Amino acid sequence: MRVLLIGSGGREHALALGLAADPSVEQLIAAPGNPGMASVAELRQVDAVDPAAVAALAVEVGADLVVIGPEAPLVAGVADAVRAKGIAVFGPSGAAARIEGSKTFAKEIMMAAAVPTARAYTCTDAGEVARALDEFGAPYVVKDDGLAAGKGVVVTEDRAHALEHAAACGQVVVEEYLAGPEVSLFVVTDGEAALPLLPAQDFKRVGDGDTGPNTGGMGAYAPLPWASPDLVEDVMARVVQPTLAEMRRRGTPFSGLLYVGLAITSRGPKVIEFNARFGDPETQVVLALLETPLAGLLNAAATGTLAAHPPLRWRAGAGVAVVVASAGYPEAARTGDVITGADRPGIIHAGTARRESDGALLSAGGRVLAGTAIGPDLEVARDAAYALIEGIELDGSQHRRDIALAAIEGRIAPPR
Ligand code: AMP
Repeated sequence: MRVLLIGSGGREHALALGLAADPSVEQLIAAPGNPGMASVAELRQVDAVDPAAVAALAVEVGADLVVIGPEAPLVAGVADAVRAKGIAVFGPSGAAARIEGSKTFAKEIMMAAAVPTARAYTCTDAGEVARALDEFGAPYVVKDDGLAAGKGVVVTEDRAHALEHAAACGQVVVEEYLAGPEVSLFVVTDGEAALPLLPAQDFKRVGDGDTGPNTGGMGAYAPLPWASPDLVEDVMARVVQPTLAEMRRRGTPFSGLLYVGLAITSRGPKVIEFNARFGDPETQVVLALLETPLAGLLNAAATGTLAAHPPLRWRAGAGVAVVVASAGYPEAARTGDVITGADRPGIIHAGTARRESDGALLSAGGRVLAGTAIGPDLEVARDAAYALIEGIELDGSQHRRDIALAAIEGRIAPPR
């Protein structure tokens, strides 16, 4: 199989490692890719959000399967353009990707499918926002209605800050606060059949102890020792199947990766958000634990043959990823700093670039690298992930020191 992978972040580096390790993959091409992916894939330039350009590249390289990593190309209709060329695609149509592209649309689907989620209002002016904030009370949750790279959400006790964020966004969704530990569940689907991957947890806030602003994600671990054994089955039955059925009913079946972000509340799991693609950095740990060949799995979803796919196999043990972010992230990430110590197995590149003059590795984004390790248990995996990033030198870089710590110390419990 010739596989074309679209994207350039940590998620795509993790996908590239998984795809390259699948013996059915003869050739892997990544576009635009990143320096970390260069050892396992041929890199090509492309404007990832230009449907015609990606489709033309897929034809040019003779791709049998195109895997689309990020949300922006999906929402822009890149999967539709590639499918129109008769090439299999892992990733939803533009119409189905609205489940991530519009929070209002996602809420509509959840209402229609009776999926447990936070009560919410879509608001377009300050008066509506104020009324919604006062109905739900603090902590206030205000979400930009459109794509915002994981940074459009403000959760705050400060009513003025909530109002300010709403004013800056335009159309927002104001919703009820959901208390309880969060879970990310990835589901591979061809629109009909669906296979859940291992549930994971990520760390959204920039600072230790979940302090500071939201980020794209500062670390992750899987599996979840504190989660109930029937969590996945329950979410498949009450969230995933009804959602997929509602998308089919509307004539926009969802195929690809449905990311279910959940809060485990005192009244059971409730959906915080849907995404139309793998989450970053949970992908790094979940795929590191997946033993089933990745390309075969994604190809089955892309070709509507997932029902015939064998059950997934997993490595025993646990995985941990710790993100190294640049100075100033998330408010004003500094780029262009030299990185050393990053060329080692287990280091996933997210925001890096090669300097043309001398080939030096430079920071090129907010989240720069992630140290990813697996081990027989969470503690060993965690120590190994931190050991990996200890060798990295990047001026002013930041990372959280408490990734997976509460889980190891038994301090996470769903509220009763
Ligand atoms: P989202 O982009 O919707 O995942 O939101 C980013 C983060 O904000 C989530 O991972 C949660 O930590 C937090 N969040 C979003 N919605 C809620 C909610 N209704 N209640 C509590 N926290 C939330």
